[in-house]
Amino acid sequence: MSVRVRFAPSPTGRLHVGNIYIALHNWLFARKAGGEFLLRLDDTDRERSTEDFANGIKADLEWLGLAWTLFDRQSARLAIYDAAAQRLRAAGRLYPCYESAEELGLKRKVQLSQGKPPIYDRAALRLTEADRSKLEAEGKRPHWRFKLEARDVTWNDLVRGPQHIDETSQSDPVLVREDGTYLYTLPSVVDDIEFKITHVIRGNDHVTNTATQIQIFEALGAPVPIFAHLPLLVDAAGEGLSKRLGSLSIRQMREEGLEPMAINAYLARIGTGDPAAPARSLDALLPEHDLAKFGKSSPRFDPEELKHLNARLLHHLPFEEARKHLAAIGLGDVDAAVWDAARANVEKVEDIAVWQSVVKGPVTPAIADAAFAAKAAELLPPEPWNAETWSAWTSAVKSATGRKGKDLFMPLRQALTASDHGPELKLLLPLIGRDRALKRLKGETA
Ligand code: GLU
Repeated sequence: MSVRVRFAPSPTGRLHVGNIYIALHNWLFARKAGGEFLLRLDDTDRERSTEDFANGIKADLEWLGLAWTLFDRQSARLAIYDAAAQRLRAAGRLYPCYESAEELGLKRKVQLSQGKPPIYDRAALRLTEADRSKLEAEGKRPHWRFKLEARDVTWNDLVRGPQHIDETSQSDPVLVREDGTYLYTLPSVVDDIEFKITHVIRGNDHVTNTATQIQIFEALGAPVPIFAHLPLLVDAAGEGLSKRLGSLSIRQMREEGLEPMAINAYLARIGTGDPAAPARSLDALLPEHDLAKFGKSSPRFDPEELKHLNARLLHHLPFEEARKHLAAIGLGDVDAAVWDAARANVEKVEDIAVWQSVVKGPVTPAIADAAFAAKAAELLPPEPWNAETWSAWTSAVKSATGRKGKDLFMPLRQALTASDHGPELKLLLPLIGRDRALKRLKGETA
């Protein structure tokens, strides 16, 4: 069996970490199995779906490296859904209903007041041909419900283990609205059949849908895919992420300067029990990837942990890999040597700009003891400089002034970089060079 999965967002907003967590696990699952990852836009809701959002989704996935082998959109496939709906009608599994939203609301109230579950009573199934003609003559248009078989639906979930849902506790779901448009339920099944999807990996908010959809697969005579329902992410307070989606959008994270691989590496691990560790490629995440590692409890998404992982990733990122990102944010002139010297001191790529300007100047030095700085300036060795220069120079300054430890190093750091902390000076000093170092030690801006 050749594995095929799909990621099926609705283009009614930008992608956020919760979506990417689903997309990523689909992608990794497919990759590990040597299978295919499809991108499908669930855009049957024409009012809320936009082309801008569709393009944004593609751009975000591309930025993260989650490439798809096939793309399709539901709005282009309506005739295929019509044919499937027709087959269900012919089989007596899709039936017309004429109740208004108010009537249904009233029915539910009555049921609840009688202590009964608010399940659709299938009154429409009792309408005769004549009743229906009369309603249609009055201008009523039907919506269409799928007739559920009253039985337990079971499946073996790759994340949740054996599942069963008692379908007698469910209302027959509406598949087609009064205006003929489709809700998500049927098109999704039809597409999963047509695209030969082998594994449906999605959030556990779809567990109840799954029971219904399994019945639809069967009613259409198609094999049922394997399901995996991942627990949904929550924030540090244990709340669902939906309230803060803006700040968790991939677009915003990209604008904030996070590395795509920090996001991937973090989302690949939360909820698995494995510690999040920096990874430089999606393929590096494959050996540990296993859907069985998830429990039912909701993984916590902590933006601070993500930032921390981002920093850890950068601390070892070779210049060749940082270069593209630097160029994209207008820092194409950062030198490889500056990157290598200072990468351990950045949290985001853009932070390197500070160290590039410390090296190239101008820097207005902070000098507390001018006599000490002047003495140190006198002792600066001649160039060429290398990684040994700092220790040779500071030994000489130490012998000449009797200073040691922090009293020796801090004033030199402040004079050379105008800062109390930063990258190792043995790395920075040769990059700053003798001319600039001399001027700074004399208190000049250089
Ligand atoms: N468009 C659906 C959603 O975003 C897809 C669910 C599924 O994967 O079947 O929730």
